[in-house]
Amino acid sequence: MFNEGEWSAFLSRELDSTVHVRFGRARQRVLEASHKPSLIGGASVLNVRLSSFFSEAPEEVRAAVAHWLRVGRRARKSAALLDAWIETAVEQLPPAANRRISICPLGDHHDLTPIALELKGHPTHLPELDSLPAVTWGRRTRTRARRSLQLGCYIAADDLIRVHPVLDQNWVPEWFLRYVLFHELLHAALPSERGSTGRAVHHGQVFKRWEQNYPEYSRAVKWLDRNLPKLLRTSHRLSDRSRPAPQKTAAVQLEPAVRRRPAARAPSSPKPSPGWLFPFLN
Ligand SMILES: [Zn+2]
Repeated sequence: MFNEGEWSAFLSRELDSTVHVRFGRARQRVLEASHKPSLIGGASVLNVRLSSFFSEAPEEVRAAVAHWLRVGRRARKSAALLDAWIETAVEQLPPAANRRISICPLGDHHDLTPIALELKGHPTHLPELDSLPAVTWGRRTRTRARRSLQLGCYIAADDLIRVHPVLDQNWVPEWFLRYVLFHELLHAALPSERGSTGRAVHHGQVFKRWEQNYPEYSRAVKWLDRNLPKLLRTSHRLSDRSRPAPQKTAAVQLEPAVRRRPAARAPSSPKPSPGWLFPFLN
């Protein structure tokens, strides 16, 4: 255990300035730092907010935090080490008790459950899964026109697959939807591979081999290629007319699966990225 006081003392010593560390419960922005100007004209204080699981951080992770705070985005090795450690730590967190995720697999035009069940029972398509992840349509929200779409994602921490509601339209063929679910189930079945720097690689060699083995893979790629403009056009017209008010899903967001590097002095942080990403779109 390394408590707030020990962290504060450690970072103050390492950075040779006053650092205040507070633990929080964040799962997304797990490491944030901001400078607070001193009121009496002295040196500014660096406020650092860490998720409480940093109390378990081993020595090399503590050193990486210090290095990253000192050097910023040039601390590539430290950032990679932090990313990898945070990702594992977040995966091991127990589900937050007060977090509600609404599960709604039955859409207006497509029901995700039977498709997922059918895939699970198909060992030549998919490595064996102990259990089927929860499967749900994402919330329909009115958004501005987009240039990219995240059609599906697998959130390991919740063992949840979320599919973009733009695919719940009558002109979207069921076999394409099956492909999207297959892709996300493959994430559930295969652990993320590690790249040379220790970063997670979501679409590694093994993943790609399985994916390209899927009988409708090239058909799906072609279909998406042809229909992407229409999907983009229709995505921002979706509204939540037929559904109950969406429940809050605190920690889970649909967002581009771009892993952010910690930025120097900025209040952004290394974000754990759930194992997802639709292959053609990002
Ligand atoms: Zn993916």
